[in-house]
Amino acid sequence: MTLQIFNTLTRRIEPFVPIQPPRVSLYTCGPTVWNYAHIGNFRTFLFEDLLRRWLGASGFDVFHIMNLTDVDDRIIKEAGAKQTDIDQLVRPYISAFYEDRDYLRILPAHCYPRATEFIAPMIRLVERLLANGTAYRGDDGSVYFAIGRFPAYGRLSQLDRRELKTGASERVSSDEYAKEDARDFVVWKAARPEDELVKAAWDAPFGRGRPGWHLECSAMALDLIGERLGTDVLDIHAGGVDLIFPHHEDEIAQSCAFTGQPDFAHFWMHGEFLNVRGTKMSKRFGNITTARDLQADGIDAGAIRLLMFGSHYRSRLDLTDESLWAAGEGSRRLGELGRRLREHRGPESAPFALAAGKMDKACTDRLDDDLDAPAAVAAVFAFVTEANRLLDHGDHPGTETLRSWERWTTEVFNVLPDLRTADADAAAVIEARLAERGAAKRRRDFVAADGIRDELAARGVVIEDTPSGTKWRLR
Ligand SMILES: [Zn+2]
Repeated sequence: MTLQIFNTLTRRIEPFVPIQPPRVSLYTCGPTVWNYAHIGNFRTFLFEDLLRRWLGASGFDVFHIMNLTDVDDRIIKEAGAKQTDIDQLVRPYISAFYEDRDYLRILPAHCYPRATEFIAPMIRLVERLLANGTAYRGDDGSVYFAIGRFPAYGRLSQLDRRELKTGASERVSSDEYAKEDARDFVVWKAARPEDELVKAAWDAPFGRGRPGWHLECSAMALDLIGERLGTDVLDIHAGGVDLIFPHHEDEIAQSCAFTGQPDFAHFWMHGEFLNVRGTKMSKRFGNITTARDLQADGIDAGAIRLLMFGSHYRSRLDLTDESLWAAGEGSRRLGELGRRLREHRGPESAPFALAAGKMDKACTDRLDDDLDAPAAVAAVFAFVTEANRLLDHGDHPGTETLRSWERWTTEVFNVLPDLRTADADAAAVIEARLAERGAAKRRRDFVAADGIRDELAARGVVIEDTPSGTKWRLR
């Protein structure tokens, strides 16, 4: 089987064939850097990270672009309130985004174009739209895209034309009377005094102003892939489901009206939402929803990745204390097996080769099937159970098994615990509980001792009482 992807454009699972194999151009909409990115944003970025890693592991040469939106209404308002300019406002948040990305082990994109650095390509794009009549200058001096002059509008979101309202209202110029049609969206906003104050206005032949939100992705993608790959159609464009309409619909309209091509991207992929809720969560999640908050809380990135990949990217996912805890246990279990595999490394035993081969096949098949990460992760855990059993029987894993293990747990999913942080904490907790169990046994309180043993067993800790003391390992 080769890679099959669910294409939002056709609502079908289709075989993935790039325009210029083995090269793959991947464009993913990045954060608006006016604040710290929410963990829900990172669910999308993690789905895209897995896509990127799987494409790479499948032999494709991926060129990944992620834009940074560094000019929009919220940024302008915030910069005004803080009496600074937009560049000063966003800089620390761009750095923070890179830090969060590294914490979550997300592979860096090949470039992170900032909207304000691509004003010239955006102006060129708007000029051509004005020239070919798909855009017009409104009475307020802003430039609008004329949806009525682009028949393919609505194809991605599959909304009926009558249902197409004015788009994301807060992103559209407030002056509805300036537009020819209420559904038209703004591509260039005429400069206001408050934009000038925070340095969010640029000269253009069609009037001083600033880009509409959708314009940057079209201009950057066309400019960068045109320059590097010599094409103006992307292989894959990805983002969160909330971007399908109007953002991606509008990107398609602008881009295709500019290039004259029928498509802007061959594949459109969209990740579902992350819900943050749960019983005990009000304290943690009431105000802790950024990646750095989870990091400050000592949550291992391996656990967060495992939790995210435990659900299909097209399914909603709940983030709860329990699910996070369970993912942490799962990650530690993987780390523990990795340690055991290395310790018992030797000439490959046949059962190990068989078990690893089974994991390889299952993971490959499942990921090729529209990135079915939960099924692939389940295959890794099936291997964990089998491998622990084989190790208990004295079987040795060889180079091939260790290579498979490394491939899935590190290269593709990257879900092993960070040994510098959470693992040390887990070990400390387990050692403390074992000391309490030892004390209970010495005072002949076997009910308490057994209670601790059962509690640890439920958390995946296997206890072995040996002549040289109590030993433990994670199941
Ligand atoms: Zn975008």
